Amino acid sequence: MARISPLTPIDHDRDSAGMTYVYPVVSRRAGGVSVGVNLNPNNACNWACVYCQVPDLVRGTAPEIDLTRLESELRAMLADILHGDFMQTRVPEGARRLNDIALSGNGEPTNARAYPQVIELIGRVMADFDLIGKIKLVLITNGSLADRPRVQDGLKKMAALNGEVWFKFDSATASGMRAINQTRIAPDKQFERLAMAARLCPTWLQTCVFAFDGTPPSQGEQAAYLGAVARIKQEAIPVQGVLLYGLARPSMQPQAGRLSALPADWLETFADKIRAAGLPVKVSP
Ligand code: SF4
Repeated sequence: MARISPLTPIDHDRDSAGMTYVYPVVSRRAGGVSVGVNLNPNNACNWACVYCQVPDLVRGTAPEIDLTRLESELRAMLADILHGDFMQTRVPEGARRLNDIALSGNGEPTNARAYPQVIELIGRVMADFDLIGKIKLVLITNGSLADRPRVQDGLKKMAALNGEVWFKFDSATASGMRAINQTRIAPDKQFERLAMAARLCPTWLQTCVFAFDGTPPSQGEQAAYLGAVARIKQEAIPVQGVLLYGLARPSMQPQAGRLSALPADWLETFADKIRAAGLPVKVSP
């Protein structure tokens, strides 16, 4: 799934970098560069989140991945970043550090049938560049396929590569998930998938909050979310914490005009409630 973090593609976008699957992103806030891997160059996702930043998003699955091409693109990008003039020419001072490789594309990455092979490939390339244990490997996912054996295989492989899962968790109610993510998945089913993912690889919840038609998440929505956090603690599900985002960048979906950012203090107040329910929170307004 697409990033919702305030990361900015640097001066060239995915296409102008001339690559199909690999793109660089610089984050001044994180003080470093992230190498993005997009397994959905067809802009297809099985969800249709109202805040999604993917232009021309369509419902569907990832295409067949050309693993040879992906590997050569990743090697070329890492060689440029680590041994070429990429940092000097394209990255501001203070952010000239490679932070992570992130599976974050224009759709749900685990939809790619080759997802476990992609993790193997990335592991091989990381080993060749002596990056294992030195940078993170992040999967940004809606988690909807985390109960599939091939996805679990990939998650296990990620855990061995300093991997981290950012698992989308915007709502704990069926009506909220329908409204925000436009999916009919049952919240309990999604909770089970979260538990599976978290037991296989270190996992953070990734939650985007915003006002819809000027109205922030209702008391009932907030209570259901906090109830899910309490259940995570009760069942000792090893979730690392919550990445709580506001609307950092504009939605590219038809509902864009109905969404607006919440005040920073709304996010801080909600973050405090989540902390009180038992999970650490990192807030990005
Ligand atoms: S999961 Fe949602 S935010 Fe992520 S790519 Fe799919 S529609 Fe976009």
